[in-house]
Amino acid sequence: MPEKLIFELSHKGRKGYTLPKMDVASGSAKHSIPDKYIRSTPVELPEVSENEVVRHFVRLSTMNYHIDKGFYPLGSCTMKYNPKVNEITSAMSGNADIHPLEPQEAVRGALELMFNLSEMLQEIAGMSAVSLQPAAGAQGELTGIMLIRKYHESKGKVRSKILVPDSAHGTNPASVAISGYKAVSIKSNPSGTVDLDDLKQHLDDEVAGMMLTNPNTLGIFETDIVKISKMVHDVGGLMYMDGANLNAIVGLVRPGDMGFDVVHINLHKTFSTPHGGGGPGSGPVAVNDKLKDFLPVPVIEKQGDKFVLSFNKTNSIGKIHSFFGNFGMLVRAYTYILSHGPDGLRNNSINAVINANYLLSKLRNNFVLPYKARPMHEFVLSADMQKDRGVKTLDIAKRILDYGYHAPTIYFPLIVHEALMIEPTETETKETLDAFAESLLKIDEETKLSPDTVRSAPSTTPIGRLDDAYAARNVNVCFPERGPSDKE
Ligand SMILES: *Cc1c(COP(=O)(O)O)cnc(C)c1O
Repeated sequence: MPEKLIFELSHKGRKGYTLPKMDVASGSAKHSIPDKYIRSTPVELPEVSENEVVRHFVRLSTMNYHIDKGFYPLGSCTMKYNPKVNEITSAMSGNADIHPLEPQEAVRGALELMFNLSEMLQEIAGMSAVSLQPAAGAQGELTGIMLIRKYHESKGKVRSKILVPDSAHGTNPASVAISGYKAVSIKSNPSGTVDLDDLKQHLDDEVAGMMLTNPNTLGIFETDIVKISKMVHDVGGLMYMDGANLNAIVGLVRPGDMGFDVVHINLHKTFSTPHGGGGPGSGPVAVNDKLKDFLPVPVIEKQGDKFVLSFNKTNSIGKIHSFFGNFGMLVRAYTYILSHGPDGLRNNSINAVINANYLLSKLRNNFVLPYKARPMHEFVLSADMQKDRGVKTLDIAKRILDYGYHAPTIYFPLIVHEALMIEPTETETKETLDAFAESLLKIDEETKLSPDTVRSAPSTTPIGRLDDAYAARNVNVCFPERGPSDKE
């Protein structure tokens, strides 16, 4: 039976609480809140008992899919298990009950934690300074491109374009465009890495920089990276690393050593903070000396044995997030780094790569592998063979739900037809990988024997196949207050 909305469970007068009688006159809030903020009609709230609320949300939670329920091979997103010790430390009163407006003297411990985390991320990235403020990888990108812009401004000319490979994540060209640059697409070669000849043709003194993901979104390491960095630096551009795939290389190779000037680090990917329906993200940026002075304020500094916030930075790009970023995420990432230590972090990356290659070895005979280079922590298959049997990647992804897994990333990167992008992460056992591979092979078999089963999937989820485009095409039905869509 489908779960009702909580408003449909509502009964007039039913309550889940008892409160003591008010000891102030009703309506006295009017004295302290400006009239324009006082509501004139009562707020519409569901009226339900406590156990109705609890049961409603518990039922919903069992329909949801999450990393604590099962395998989540969502490529590029690094959906690793989030250790529960992270929750314990972030819930400690000294971390959870502090307020961003408290005076610095009252929260020196929190400042010290942020300072130490910055130093650790600096070391991991091979950079010389960090801002913990960005709330996501995408906001880290925007921050990074703003830093690059400020750098060129300080040299007298902002330049006009940023180079972005055609395999890049969509947020890369978006960050470039929002920063006032033109995104220029650079081709990938048949091995799936940057085409150096195409890159050469686009290099001139209008290039402000290049954004690159390494390993790239095919999971392939850009082995020419030092050469690429040098080519871009030779025309005066800077190198931005999209660090979404850092989980493949922590403790093995550092962005700074590859020639990058700035990198964002998705704490909710590589450093095990909740991801997807699980809370806010965090995308710190690490930079080298060229960009250090332009970092957002405040910057955390160590003065003697004290940790202080410094707002006085004349060249800063300014603020990019309220207060200091998502502090609870910083505590979780700090816990993760400390509990693994350098060797543990390196082992995680090695095991992430081994797991991906193991899984690929089980699947590569039944799916097309368009780029043959040995991948790192993830790989991208194509369902071209299955498409010839009338079954699309979307159908396969939906069928995977029936086998009890989250679907992989699909139709990305754009340079792969019918793409299925799979990233197992290091936290999965061999048994989990074997069972998942077996399920995909069974689905492949189904595309031959009973393609309709795959085309009509999912059949075991609370709700079957949704019409993905309906909401976009029928804005006025979904949001009647917006009026007819021809006004849009
Ligand atoms: C996840 C991801 C991003 C964006 O990061 P968010 O934290 O989701 O904003 C950028 N690039 C790549 C390759 C990614 O996988």
